[in-house]
Amino acid sequence: MASAPDLSQLNWVTTRVDAALGWARKFSIFQYPFVTACCGMEYMATATSHYDMDRFGAGFPRFSPRQADVLFVVGTISQKMAPVLRRVYDQMAEPKWVVAFGVCTCTGGFYDDYTTVLGIDTIMPVDVYIPGCPPRPENVLDGLMKLQDKIAQGAGTTLAAGLSVRPPELQVPHRPDAHL
Ligand code: SF4
Repeated sequence: MASAPDLSQLNWVTTRVDAALGWARKFSIFQYPFVTACCGMEYMATATSHYDMDRFGAGFPRFSPRQADVLFVVGTISQKMAPVLRRVYDQMAEPKWVVAFGVCTCTGGFYDDYTTVLGIDTIMPVDVYIPGCPPRPENVLDGLMKLQDKIAQGAGTTLAAGLSVRPPELQVPHRPDAHL
């Protein structure tokens, strides 16, 4: 009688395939820039040859959410704009990731009123927070490398049904979150 095949090697093969996919994905980021306000200046500065986002495989923006896998939300988001942003997010295929660029998108920034979304993690999962008003290109590249680490590990809050964890320094407990 033939002996049962040794399946213990199969896990090793699966793991190596996942690692190869993660490595490939982290250097082929197709970003969708959703730019609304002054942070856009630093976003554009980061894309210049001086900072060279291309070396991270992230220099090629797509202007259709269906062709993008990373949503860069850049600038203040008003309550009126929130459903549009959410629709853009919903139109992106999995796997997908979200970057909050600038303190307005992270927490609402200095806005403390009923017209502004007080952090986009109230309307969608966020994978990487890049605070600053605006963040310098070096901060943006740091955030991009953190995102690459998550992608390489196959991790993503967007895959885990909305488990954004806002860093402690970005907690604003005195403000009520916006609810749509
Ligand atoms: S974080 Fe500052 S620079 Fe960025 S959109 Fe808000 S106010 Fe403008």
